[in-house]
Amino acid sequence: MKLPLIWCLLLLAAGTVQAQVPGENPFKQLENELPTPNVYRNAAGAPGHMYWQQKADYQMDIRLDDEQQRVYGTEKITYHNNSPDPLDYLWVQLDQNVRALDSDTYSTSTSEMGERMSLGQLSRLEPTFDGGFKIDWVRDAAGKDMAYFIQKTMMRVDLPKTLKPGESTVLQIKYWYNINDRMKDGGGRSGSEYFEEDDNYLYTIAQFYPRMALYSDNVGWQNKQFLGRGEFTLTFGDYDVKITVPADHLVAATGTLQNDSEVLTREQRQRLEKARKERVQPVIIASQEEAIEREKTKVKKEKTWHFKAENVRDFAFASSRKFIWDAMGVEQEDGSVVMAMSMYPKEGNPLWERFSTKAVAHTLKWYTHYTFNYPYPVAWSINAADIGMEYPMICFNFGRTEADGTYSDRTKYGMIGVIIHEVGHNYFPMIVNSDERQWTWMDEGLNTFLQYLAEQQWERDYPSRRGPANKIVDYMKGDKRYISPIMTNSESIWQFGNNAYGKPATALNILRETIMGREAFDYAFKTYANRWKFKHPAPADLFRTMEDASAIDLDWFWRGWFFTTDHVDIALADVKEFRINSMDPVAEKARERQAEEEAPRNISSIRNEQEITQTYDEIDTTLRDFYTDYDPFEATVIDRDEYHHYLQGLSEAERAVLQANKYYYELTFENIGGLVMPIILEFTFADGTKEVLRIPAEIWRMGTEEVTKVFPFTQQVKSIVLDPFLETADTDTSNNYYPSKPAVNRFDLYQSRERNGENPMQRNRRAEQQDASGSRR
Ligand SMILES: [Zn+2]
Repeated sequence: MKLPLIWCLLLLAAGTVQAQVPGENPFKQLENELPTPNVYRNAAGAPGHMYWQQKADYQMDIRLDDEQQRVYGTEKITYHNNSPDPLDYLWVQLDQNVRALDSDTYSTSTSEMGERMSLGQLSRLEPTFDGGFKIDWVRDAAGKDMAYFIQKTMMRVDLPKTLKPGESTVLQIKYWYNINDRMKDGGGRSGSEYFEEDDNYLYTIAQFYPRMALYSDNVGWQNKQFLGRGEFTLTFGDYDVKITVPADHLVAATGTLQNDSEVLTREQRQRLEKARKERVQPVIIASQEEAIEREKTKVKKEKTWHFKAENVRDFAFASSRKFIWDAMGVEQEDGSVVMAMSMYPKEGNPLWERFSTKAVAHTLKWYTHYTFNYPYPVAWSINAADIGMEYPMICFNFGRTEADGTYSDRTKYGMIGVIIHEVGHNYFPMIVNSDERQWTWMDEGLNTFLQYLAEQQWERDYPSRRGPANKIVDYMKGDKRYISPIMTNSESIWQFGNNAYGKPATALNILRETIMGREAFDYAFKTYANRWKFKHPAPADLFRTMEDASAIDLDWFWRGWFFTTDHVDIALADVKEFRINSMDPVAEKARERQAEEEAPRNISSIRNEQEITQTYDEIDTTLRDFYTDYDPFEATVIDRDEYHHYLQGLSEAERAVLQANKYYYELTFENIGGLVMPIILEFTFADGTKEVLRIPAEIWRMGTEEVTKVFPFTQQVKSIVLDPFLETADTDTSNNYYPSKPAVNRFDLYQSRERNGENPMQRNRRAEQQDASGSRR
């Protein structure tokens, strides 16, 4: 989750819609859409027998300048070429350049004027902040300058000698940059936050060093420019990082602290030891009172914090003299203990001391349940206003209380939700390391799905925003010009949140609850997570593994939900009841008589009965034929005799069917929306009992827009509901009922008086604006 405000700024432009090809069978395999399997990624969705990946190790010396809000750094990158390819140059990511004044992010962003413009909106039109990396030099292992070329957010470093397969090389880079003020310069995943009241900064620092781009078997160099949405595609490696900050700051970072005796007090270290053994209630390592004291001292001296992290794809840290710190141990199934920890300013309390570290521990427990043991020694949650952003072992999460320390339910659940989400990102994409620059959904969608499961384990009926099928309906039935298929590059997505978070999370939940069932889904999902932990999966690896581990062909589901913008609307179009003809003349003729009596009469017959007192045949009875007494609904001797012979001709089994006298219902379903889905039916019978039947989506496998199926029952059916538990994201449930339900609506009585002070022209304009914003949802 990041930059939620940006979602509201989506502007209209021509968009293309990729819908299901008319007449194409929805069960056609995805052979044209997915890459051909090979020795690196096999057809089962697993890493192939010749799978490889690169490695980049970092040694860094970082200084945080609290006077000028700058980061100064030197880094030594050791790059290991595990690929079978010789490399003549390396690509390095310069993500800070997204804030350089000549950034493509500014020049290619669209904008329009509104009646009300905030300072933030205006400053985006005319950026003045001097962001971006200032590169002092790039050198080799021997300290010799290397040639490099900067292409916006990417830097190519030319190697003096080809880097052959199996070889390593060293780059050294010296640089600095101005830290952006997150609260002024339009948000941002990292930066500073200034607290005027006590004149202090809280730094959440990330993308702060030139990082190796990923070179892989399926993409080559992932050096697509960083424009702001498509996040980070990174190589695994080991980190050794020294961070110099004001001596009264507390620092949280990716990795394990190496020099605690130099930077922590004896008391803090004792409290940490106690916290390691604590399993329920976090232990305060640095208290609020202590933090308030530090806020006042503003020490000029500096201290260096030393961290090491193994097998991570990135490194981030937070630093402030405002920090309160609490921690507790989380014991895993393998006996290892992870430290769940939080740092937050007093502005987050009492909310944060109550819930943050507990939410971290809860996340580790449930994500581990669905994937694998958390492999790192620590998991941090850092309080940062307005954002949620993830890095290995550390994440930045919103959640502040009111000035008087109170908070709303909305704030509380929003904060717990964002912590679960961002801590959850440790699994996807920090460990299951997908290509974020290309596919936002691969980490956000999977993570939002697990977030939903974890939220529901935190509290029954937790108010989750995303996950249940019925919550995605409004998005899926919207204007298709402003909906993109999930399989769209991160930078080109309409309705980012719904597309990359909501819809894939819902799709996975539907797979789990409705298509595959929990047992088959959980096993397959766990298989995917374990096959690709500490590796680089692509969409096809997920799609193939889910089928490979479950024996369920899901190509139709991936096609419909991930490659098109179709929606679900299945209608119960027709219901017919059938009974067996018993051939028994007594019963059948009695039934015919009743039908005749109940049959509607024509209007003249009804009126004649009221008007004419006597018919002519009643006056002159001699006109009657001799057989007028004949009753066609009475069983004759001949009828009975025929019935006797019929029965004698039946086998035992046939007679049993006749006696069972079942009810047969022929139901016709129409696929109006385009997406095929399972048909779930709830029948209610004459005696009030119910039965639920689940028919897999394969009932649509002939690709027809209409299917018919017969359901036999021993009792008469009183009513039928299609999708009774709202699990298929059916966008129009009004056609899901037999007998059909009247649509119950409410309307407002129009007030003829004008709104307070609003003239008719203003009212018109307001209505137009509402229309415009409605079409953009
Ligand atoms: Zn996220």
